[in-house]
Amino acid sequence: MSRVAVVTGAGSGMGVAISQHFAARGDRVALLDVNGAAVEEVTQRLRDGGAEAISCQVDVSDRRAVFEAIETVRTELGAVEIIVTSAGIEAFVPFLEISPESWERMMAVNLTGTFNCLQAVVPDMLAGGWGRIVTISSSSAQSGTKNMSHYVASKGGVIALTKALAIEYAPHGITVNTIPPGFIETPMAHRPIEAGLLPSMEELIARTPVGRAGTPDDIAAACAFLCSEEAGYITGQLIGVNGGWYL
Ligand code: NAP
Repeated sequence: MSRVAVVTGAGSGMGVAISQHFAARGDRVALLDVNGAAVEEVTQRLRDGGAEAISCQVDVSDRRAVFEAIETVRTELGAVEIIVTSAGIEAFVPFLEISPESWERMMAVNLTGTFNCLQAVVPDMLAGGWGRIVTISSSSAQSGTKNMSHYVASKGGVIALTKALAIEYAPHGITVNTIPPGFIETPMAHRPIEAGLLPSMEELIARTPVGRAGTPDDIAAACAFLCSEEAGYITGQLIGVNGGWYL
């Protein structure tokens, strides 16, 4: 069955692969990202491949813009049945050097952005009696990691929000799960490696039991399953996609 799926952060990295997986199985896909040019290019590629897809430039921390974008999705594709919230930012700063402004921005995008997007789409899922929500959190919120305490705290909030909503919406046919990725090769992972803020690629791979970096497709495959008809008995779960990292 073709569903209406929203993917945030769809202009880069995991969001691209997640959108591609939904489009490939016949879902109608709305791709949201703050980078309008990037997300339109990805969307055009999906349309060239025969998919029904639209792009919306939106900053997920801007509540009004999120609600307007979701209204556009309803008008053009139909009521929202699936959402994956992949939009996110990271930063590497020792705890004592985190300014209140950068703390607020981290929370605004990673945690409040998730809140905004979910509040905008859940009414559609309640009305339809069916929904699939996957948040993208981070393995760093399971293990802790240094110099990223604002990022880690925001992702810990995403995990807790996911678990709370899973209980609240389980009686309504809506499942809510989170994927806390380990090390996945995307622009977000490459930037700090190149800047020397994370260990080298070789070191990260050496720490990974399966012996390779994760790919956006690894995340997308898990998302596609969690957002399938068959996954209706899985809710409130953290599905680690991390090559076997012990957390
Ligand atoms: P990515 O390649 O940087 O993609 C994230 C996308 O989100 C980018 O297109 C980015 O746009 C967009 N974005 C940023 N702020 C936004 C906002 N306010 N509103 C809307 N879109 C916004 O990163 P990724 O690696 O695919 O990450 C996807 C998710 O996985 C993130 O939530 C990240 O925290 C999480 N994660 C990643 C890893 C990893 O190893 N890659 C590990 C754990 C968790 P700009 O490029 O213009 O900022």
